[in-house]
Amino acid sequence: MYDVAIIGGGPAGLAAAYNLERAGQKVVLLEETGRLGGRAKTVDIHGEPVNMGAMFVYAGTASHELAVELGVALEPFEPTTFGIHVNGETVVSTDNDDLVERLPLTEESRNELRAFIDRATSEYYANTVDGQLRPSTPGFGEESAQSRICDLPQDVQEILTAAIRGGSVAHPSQLSATYALRYFASYLVKEKKNRVVSLGGMEAIPAALASSLQSTEVRLHHRVETIRQDAEGLWNLKASAEPHLSAPVNQDAGAATETWNATSRHIIMAVPAPRIAGMVQLPEWKSKALEAVQTPGSTELGVVVDISTPELSGMDDWSFIVTAGRLFDVVINSRPGRKDGTAQFVCYGNSAGYIEDANDSASGVLEQWLEEFLKVAPQLRGRILGASIQSWRHCFSLLTPTRAAALPQLQAPVDGTLHFAGDYSSETAGTHGAYAEAKRVTQDILRSVPTATY
Ligand SMILES: Cc1cc2nc3c(=O)[nH]c(=O)nc-3n(C[C@H](O)[C@H](O)[C@H](O)COP(=O)(O)OP(=O)(O)OC[C@H]3O[C@@H](n4cnc5c(N)ncnc54)[C@H](O)[C@@H]3O)c2cc1C
Repeated sequence: MYDVAIIGGGPAGLAAAYNLERAGQKVVLLEETGRLGGRAKTVDIHGEPVNMGAMFVYAGTASHELAVELGVALEPFEPTTFGIHVNGETVVSTDNDDLVERLPLTEESRNELRAFIDRATSEYYANTVDGQLRPSTPGFGEESAQSRICDLPQDVQEILTAAIRGGSVAHPSQLSATYALRYFASYLVKEKKNRVVSLGGMEAIPAALASSLQSTEVRLHHRVETIRQDAEGLWNLKASAEPHLSAPVNQDAGAATETWNATSRHIIMAVPAPRIAGMVQLPEWKSKALEAVQTPGSTELGVVVDISTPELSGMDDWSFIVTAGRLFDVVINSRPGRKDGTAQFVCYGNSAGYIEDANDSASGVLEQWLEEFLKVAPQLRGRILGASIQSWRHCFSLLTPTRAAALPQLQAPVDGTLHFAGDYSSETAGTHGAYAEAKRVTQDILRSVPTATY
């Protein structure tokens, strides 16, 4: 019998465990895979920590606060360039007018793109302060990013759609104009105050949370299959545990069984929204709210390259390159200006969606994507030190007006004891949303425990 069972060992689940344990709660955390961190996943490529999921800590958010509290090493993301790859050519510049002038587009398209960039830049500065969004102007949040680009020539729309997909995951029609400022226009204006990089990778934050846990029972390789409420209001969980792999991380291992059962007073659903419905019978209002969450798939290629020769040293400043017409939408270098002869580029294939084969190293998808990367950066042929690919079935809870309207129902517990916390129930999504939600449900749970000291 536990006070709280947390389903999911990603940012939300780990942060909830961290908070609840410190308040003296008896907690079990169940994670279906063999690692903690969820979509905050960092892999080692040629000795470099490369993020294959979440990339940035957003300044001033819950993830920033937590990283500082946990002593995670951070540095600001300070882009100095913007780049566009279109019609087979890649142009990168510190100056947007110079960038547009050099693009292989018709004069009309160049003029329209330049005018759009001017409008987006003015809109960005009118609605942000020090890289942070101002409270939105009336009506602004209900407009989609598509409303800003739909009258532009087709080739310009394709460039901007790739940029918005790469920066935010969403198609412009699915992204509110407000969040287009944070996830797209901020790159265009080379904002230096809104993103921070964890030097050990994004996984360093959940890893620090995990290593601070002492009394929480952390069970890897435990996939929760069903949750049922009994007549006394307690929750019975059934998980399938993989024999040989299911030993608790920080507890004495009992005999590994194929089915693991437990009872808990509270449950926290810290899994991607599309996973919830299959586990538990929900009231109609909650099922409807969960249907408002869109969490599309995405595929990422991470590459570490040697740029130590003088002719490649300029690539150190590449920051955000829109790649129109490629398998992926943008290429991001999260640490521009590091000047040590190495760079890491992550190619974000949000419009490519989930590609199951990509996670199988024998499928050839990695090699195919590397060739695409070399079309964007042909000068790097022979310079690739290592690469990795990762495809996500559920990447990011889109910042749609529909999900925003459903937030009160997404956040509300069922029967006061079944709680919902993850990027899907947060206003902002992202790891910051997940950490903020963990805090909210922790406080909710602790309010029902008279003796809790939080
Ligand atoms: C490509 C990409 C780029 C991103 N960029 C950023 C960024 O720059 N900044 C940012 O802040 N965020 C970013 N995000 C989003 C961020 O990673 C997520 O919002 C965050 O990880 C959500 O945390 P979570 O705990 O809600 O869910 P998750 O991270 O998905 O964790 C859920 C966990 O639950 C486990 N699980 C699922 N079902 C079960 C089950 N039945 N039983 C047991 N365990 C289960 C999963 O294995 C997983 O470990 C990005 C994500 C991706 C994929």
